[in-house]
Amino acid sequence: MKVAKVAVVGCGPSGLCAIKNCISEGFEVVAFEQTSEIGGEWNSNLEVGPNVHSKIYEGLETNFTKELMEYSDFSYDEKVTESFLTQDKVFKYFKSYTKKFELKKYIKFNHRVIRIRPVDDQWEIIVQNLKNDEFETIFSDTVFICNGLSAPWMPKFEGQNIFKGNILHSRDYRNTKMFKGEKVLLIGSGTSAFDMVIAIDKVAKKIVWLNKIQQTHGKQVNLNLSSNSIIKTSQVKRFTKSGAEFEDGSFEEFSIIAFATGYDFTFPFLSVDSGISVYDKCVQPLYKQCINANRPSMAIIGLPWFTLRIPLFELQIKFCMQYWSGRKNLPSREEMLQDIQEDFKTRNITENLHKAHYLGFAKHGLYFDDLAKTSGIEPLKQVLVDLSTHQVQHAFENYKTFRFYNYKVLNDFEFSCNCKLNLIKNEDDKV
Ligand SMILES: Cc1cc2nc3c(=O)[nH]c(=O)nc-3n(C[C@H](O)[C@H](O)[C@H](O)COP(=O)(O)OP(=O)(O)OC[C@H]3O[C@@H](n4cnc5c(N)ncnc54)[C@H](O)[C@@H]3O)c2cc1C
Repeated sequence: MKVAKVAVVGCGPSGLCAIKNCISEGFEVVAFEQTSEIGGEWNSNLEVGPNVHSKIYEGLETNFTKELMEYSDFSYDEKVTESFLTQDKVFKYFKSYTKKFELKKYIKFNHRVIRIRPVDDQWEIIVQNLKNDEFETIFSDTVFICNGLSAPWMPKFEGQNIFKGNILHSRDYRNTKMFKGEKVLLIGSGTSAFDMVIAIDKVAKKIVWLNKIQQTHGKQVNLNLSSNSIIKTSQVKRFTKSGAEFEDGSFEEFSIIAFATGYDFTFPFLSVDSGISVYDKCVQPLYKQCINANRPSMAIIGLPWFTLRIPLFELQIKFCMQYWSGRKNLPSREEMLQDIQEDFKTRNITENLHKAHYLGFAKHGLYFDDLAKTSGIEPLKQVLVDLSTHQVQHAFENYKTFRFYNYKVLNDFEFSCNCKLNLIKNEDDKV
């Protein structure tokens, strides 16, 4: 397959990387971004609302050191010496990347992609100009879908509709104001849940944190929470007007229930004949979790979760470019479908479709290696895989202090970690 024109949907970190790599390849590129700025999640002003894309909250610090959040061809400014960064520094990094590679001229801002459908050998893309409400149709040989996450995923419990207090999803969490003096049930076991529980613990009357990770991985995450907080591993049986009954037979009263339970994958702009379907958090059929096996001139970037983000985007994009540039030939549709089935079997996905895109830090290196070996691109440096495993372990051991450490990548295989105790800020945060 040799293409000339590429369309990119979304200009967050994955879309920017797609634009950069396509122009280096000599493709004609047009990118659409529904907001007025690049950066996706990192373009945040802490607003909440139906048209707000970013879910970054007040005081957020990255959960990975900056070396794990950069493209291989562009490093953070030398002046940024700390490892874990605030939102403004990450946003600045993506702005500098955009400037250095002159990406803005390829982007149509305030343009929302509302429809993508195959027409002959091309993709017809209908775009809405959000400034003047006019519609435009373009045609492209290939499409990179880089729209990020926007649809909150929430488990359903009996009685949820009769609960009289407030229910919110972490999508709409920006600060702890609404939790002051309240009794809170927090459900979730990802990084947002960890950050939220630490912050809410300081202001709430009581917080019960339902954290499934302790059940699934059998690990006790050390958070040094106050005595107002308890961690529960027993599932909610049902909600009542004033609280929740748990499967262990206990009952607790709450005024707020907060779900930090992640997001669903949604592609509201894809036509039914795009070849892609989404069911139970599983986007199908995708060769190596990115190329549309039914119509391989489309790729969806960034689906694998519980892994590094920026290095993942770059590898997936370079993987696709090997085929779209004509340097490599894709396997047949049947071979790609077979590969997907084998991958599912190896990862035991058959019964758990919702885990189809789960990688996990113990094994994500295998996926990165597979992308590299299959397409003949540079693999992810071993030091980055090792560093990420180390950091995740560290976070498990003491989530409250893991960001006090400073990391340095020394070479392709080694990194240093500054674990001096005098970096520990508070007495009660000691490891
Ligand atoms: C609270 C929070 C904290 C996080 N912390 C970290 C961290 O510490 N480290 C880390 O590596 N990652 C972190 N992430 C993950 C973060 O999502 C990624 O770093 C990265 O921003 C994802 O890039 P993306 O380009 O795939 O998606 P996004 O950043 O979500 O960008 C998608 C872009 O597509 C646009 N778009 C969507 N639909 C359309 C459409 N129809 N038409 C046109 N444009 C569209 C959006 O406006 C947006 O600009 C965090 C995420 C959240 C929510």
